[in-house]
Amino acid sequence: MKKASLTTRILIALLIGLSLGLLAGWLFHGGGPLAAHSGTLAWWIDEVIQPMGRIFLRIIFMVVVPLILSAIVIGTMEMGDMRTLGRIGGRTLLITLLLSTLSVGLALGLVNALQPGKALSDARRNDLVAAYSAASEKMIERGANKPSLSKTLLNLIPENPLAEATNAFQPDHTGGGLLAVMVFSLFVGVAMTVAPQEKTATLRGFFEGLFEISMTIIGFAMKLAPLGVACLSFAVAARLGLDLFRTLGYYAAVVLLGLGLHQFVVYPLVLCVLGHRSPTSFFRGAKEAIVTAFSTSSSNATLPVSLRVAEKNLGIPPRIARFVLTVGASANQNGTALYEGITVLFLAQVFGVELTFAQQIVVALMCIMAGIGTAGVPGGSLPLVVGVLLSINVPAESIAIILGIDRFLDMCRTALNVTGDLVVAVVVARGEEKADPCAG
Ligand code: ASP
Repeated sequence: MKKASLTTRILIALLIGLSLGLLAGWLFHGGGPLAAHSGTLAWWIDEVIQPMGRIFLRIIFMVVVPLILSAIVIGTMEMGDMRTLGRIGGRTLLITLLLSTLSVGLALGLVNALQPGKALSDARRNDLVAAYSAASEKMIERGANKPSLSKTLLNLIPENPLAEATNAFQPDHTGGGLLAVMVFSLFVGVAMTVAPQEKTATLRGFFEGLFEISMTIIGFAMKLAPLGVACLSFAVAARLGLDLFRTLGYYAAVVLLGLGLHQFVVYPLVLCVLGHRSPTSFFRGAKEAIVTAFSTSSSNATLPVSLRVAEKNLGIPPRIARFVLTVGASANQNGTALYEGITVLFLAQVFGVELTFAQQIVVALMCIMAGIGTAGVPGGSLPLVVGVLLSINVPAESIAIILGIDRFLDMCRTALNVTGDLVVAVVVARGEEKADPCAG
C-alpha cells in the first residue's frame, strides 16, 4: 500500500487528536472549562501528552537561529547580486519592499479590525492562559511594560549579536532578540556582497551548508509532526472544547480575506498604476503559474512555469523575467508575510495580550524579513513563525492547531507569492521599456 503523504498524515493526526481531545474533555469535565493543573486529565495533559507533543517543536526550536541567520544572509546576498544588474536590481528591491510592506500592513489592519483571536470566550481564554501560565504571564507582563517606540527601534541594532541570539527566546530578555539577529544577518549579507568575492567564498559556502543542515533537521522534526500534532491538538481540544473550532474557522477566514484582498485589490491597483497593464489580461496570462503554485505549495517548484508564462503570455523580456522571478521565488513572499503577520497577532489575541503599536511594528518588521528568509517550499514559513512566536513569548504549542489546517492556507499563500513575483516582473519590465524603448 502506498504510504500516505506527510500532509495527509498530519491531517489525520489532527482529526484524531481533536476528536479524542473533545471526547476526553466531555467525559472528564462535561465539556466545560478544564481547571488548569488539576484533576486526572490535566495531569495527563501536562505530564505526558504535551511533553510528547513538544518533541518535534523543540527540534525545530533548536535550528531556528542558525536557519534565520543563514537564510537571511543567503537571501540578501542574492538580492545583492542585483547590483550587477543595476537599474533592474534596484527596481526589483524597491517594489519587493513596497509589496511586502503593503501585505504586512493589510495583515495588521485586518487582525486589529476583525480581532479573530477574541472569538474565544473569556472563561476559555483564562483557562488557556492559566494552562500555559509560565509563557503567557511573561507575555502579558511585556504587553503591560510597553517599551517606547524609540527604544524598540534602537534595539533593532544589536550591540552584541551573540547575546541577542542566545537570549532570543528568554521571556524576560529586554533587547531586540530575534529581530536584532535578523538585522545582524542582513548586515552580514550586505557586507558579503560588498567585500571581495574571493575572500568571502568560504564563508558563503559555510552559510549555504548551514542552511541545508538546518532544513534537513527540520525535515527530521517533520517526521515526528503527526505524533506532535495529535498530542498538542488533543491538549488544546480537551481544554477549549468546541470554542476552538469557532476561533480557528474565524482565523482561517481572516487569512483568506487578507490573501484575497491583496490578490484582487492591491495587485490590480499596482498593475494599473505602476505596470500600466490591464489586471484581467495579467491574470489570464498568469493563470497557469497561479494554479501550479496553488497545487504544489512551493514557489521554487513553480519557477519553471512562472518563467514560461512571464515570457510567453505576459511578454516580459527574458533577462528581466529570469532575474526577477528567480530572486522573487525565495525573497518576495507577500502571501507568507501576510500569513505570518495574521497568525502571530491572532495567537497573541488568543492569549489575551494587547500588543502595543511599537510591538506590532516589531512583529511587522520580523514578518517582512521572514519573507526574505522563507524557503519557497511547502511549509517553508513554519520555522519562522515558530521563531517569531517564541520571541514575543506566545506559547509555541499553539502552532499545532494551525499546523493542522496549514496545508490549505499554504496553497493559497503560495499562489499569492507567485502572483507577486509576476507583478514585480511586469512593473520592472514596464520601467525598463520607459527608460529604454528599444530594450527587451
Ligand atoms: N510554501 C510557500 C512558498 O513556497 C512558503 C511558505 O509560506 O511556507 O512560497
